[in-house]
Amino acid sequence: MEADTIFAVASGAGHAAIAVMRISGAASFAALAALCGDVPPPRRASLRHLRDRDGMELDQAMVVWLPGPGSYTGEDSVELFLHGGRAVLDGVAQALVRFGARPAEAGEFTRRAFLNGKMDLTEAEAVHDLVAAETAAQRRQALRQLDGALGTIYRAWADRLRVLLAQQEALIDFPDEDLPPEIEAAVLAELAALGEEVAVHLDDERRGERLREGLVFAVTGRPNVGKSSLVNALAERDVAIVSAMPGTTRDALEARVVLGGVPVTLVDTAGLRASTDAIEAEGVRRALARAADADLVVVVIEPGEQEAPPPLAGGSWGEGAAPVPARPPPPSPLPQGEGEYVVAASHLLVMNKLDLGGVAPVDAIGVSALTGQGLDTLRTRLGAAARSLTESAGPPPLTQARHRAALQQAAARLAAAGIADLAELRAEDLRLALRALGRITGSVGVEDILDTLFSRFCIGK
Ligand code: GDP
Repeated sequence: MEADTIFAVASGAGHAAIAVMRISGAASFAALAALCGDVPPPRRASLRHLRDRDGMELDQAMVVWLPGPGSYTGEDSVELFLHGGRAVLDGVAQALVRFGARPAEAGEFTRRAFLNGKMDLTEAEAVHDLVAAETAAQRRQALRQLDGALGTIYRAWADRLRVLLAQQEALIDFPDEDLPPEIEAAVLAELAALGEEVAVHLDDERRGERLREGLVFAVTGRPNVGKSSLVNALAERDVAIVSAMPGTTRDALEARVVLGGVPVTLVDTAGLRASTDAIEAEGVRRALARAADADLVVVVIEPGEQEAPPPLAGGSWGEGAAPVPARPPPPSPLPQGEGEYVVAASHLLVMNKLDLGGVAPVDAIGVSALTGQGLDTLRTRLGAAARSLTESAGPPPLTQARHRAALQQAAARLAAAGIADLAELRAEDLRLALRALGRITGSVGVEDILDTLFSRFCIGK
């Protein structure tokens, strides 16, 4: 248990009718008694007049006494439902400091909950994700993780590894003739089975991570085909500057939208064309890099454009088109030569300006950013793409790069254990795999990452 008693406003910043002040730590009871004159029965909302040490009234508020260990942090805790004004919050905070409490650091309540065994690290991370969730799909994923869905999987694997390790150690400790030969075969079979399960979990096309982080869709095409206009239409606000002059969208402009229940950042790439203007050429370079990282590339063409531009990878729009890009002297280390941007994503072809006449190619969605024609279809198709990139049927998917790194380590150790020719080496590999798994839930060796992990939280969480 931590010695300090901490407090923080857990509700949002700004003027509000009610603000929630949380207090946690050994002095919670005394602080509440000092503020209210008495402590109401546990876990019962009670109306009290709050006063500072000199008897000055601070607020009339609902207070709840939450004795440990049955509280969020596992420690004695208090929640005050105060009137949300600045003077009330300041007055109560000052009174609490006088009673010996101190303001909490970012994530400190959840950190204490983890340290006191109220939740594992995957659940603590889910608290952060739930607070950050923008869409229903993100909320579902965070809630599932908060319920322990991921921790359960990783702990079950760790339990099986522990059994394997015990068997392997028995193989080391006892001479061959005392143990049935089937034991080694069984260890190897279970090792292979476990390795396969971890590999399947890892091989998920980053669906959970993509949903958690949101997707990036790059909108690309020749200058003036209407990329900015389309991004504006999809974002329903003026994100990009629409201009009749080619090349004025100098930089990648971004709009955050929700498509198919998934947060998507639309990147409006700069006019992709040869340019002697250094700033514009830099815009082109950034756009290419952004598009190469994107989860989906929306390629926009206009009537009269004969073929879909060979998107980005070759750096050229094909026969007769201006080669893209003519790069400026590199101000920073830049990818050299053409064809170095690997387009990892899939493409969606859109023919804009249908109002000018023309027929969209069979594989393209025809739209007009000007009249709105086809935009609903485009939105639906983009939403379907967003969902198919993030939806996962079956067991809960990986949600964090941190988990992925640990699982990859575990998988590597399991593979090494499978081919180790010395029993002692196999046991060591199993120990390392177990350790990697333990770091995900926080059961072993995570002191070094706690500061980084919890500092991302907001104060009061
Ligand atoms: P970008 O360079 O690809 O980003 O293109 P902009 O969005 O800046 O548009 C270039 C020009 O095409 C502007 O004058 C727009 O008003 C015009 N434009 C964009 N979409 C349409 C459309 O659907 N129909 C017509 N007729 N003009 C459009």
